[in-house]
Amino acid sequence: DDFEPTDLASIIEDSLMLLERELRQYRVSVETDLQDVPAARANGNQIQRVLLNLVINARQAMPEGGTISIGLKTNAEANEVLLTVRDSGSGIPQDQLPNIFEPFFSTKSGPDASGKGGTGLGLSACRDIIQEHGGRIRVESTVGRGTAFIIRLPVASKSE
Ligand code: ADP
Ligand code: MG
Repeated sequence: DDFEPTDLASIIEDSLMLLERELRQYRVSVETDLQDVPAARANGNQIQRVLLNLVINARQAMPEGGTISIGLKTNAEANEVLLTVRDSGSGIPQDQLPNIFEPFFSTKSGPDASGKGGTGLGLSACRDIIQEHGGRIRVESTVGRGTAFIIRLPVASKSE
């Protein structure tokens, strides 16, 4: 699709702005550590969709509030940018970790504040988008401590 040199820091800022009200309503604070990274080869709209999905999932994993930390740094050896979305929420049980990227896998059965349960399509879409970028997404999680999604995206080449 339309991949172009993309400033991930501004995509992150835009995404957080869109969710500002909801995050405040649920007493979720946001910390960012955005280093000065090279432009990624990416489709900004699609990366924003990924971020919105991850941040909303993080918020939903912290019904009593908590902290979302977003990090951006360079993985210089691999010519990649590393984007991390971490939360201090419920965490994901070890036996569910292999399933969370599967379409329609959701543990959100009951209605939440938005009036609906989960579709189970969010992470599946995230993975598709990142793979189309030639990137990778993986998860680290500990029940009771929280979850981190780590995304690697290729750096845009000089000619792009
Ligand atoms: P949905 O949000 O509609 O349930 P997703 O594909 O976005 O579907 O996520 C699938 C499942 O992965 C969720 O139902 C939840 O069990 C788990 N999950 C995703 N993100 C988190 C998170 N940050 N913390 C805890 N569990 C999560
Ligand atoms: Mg979701």
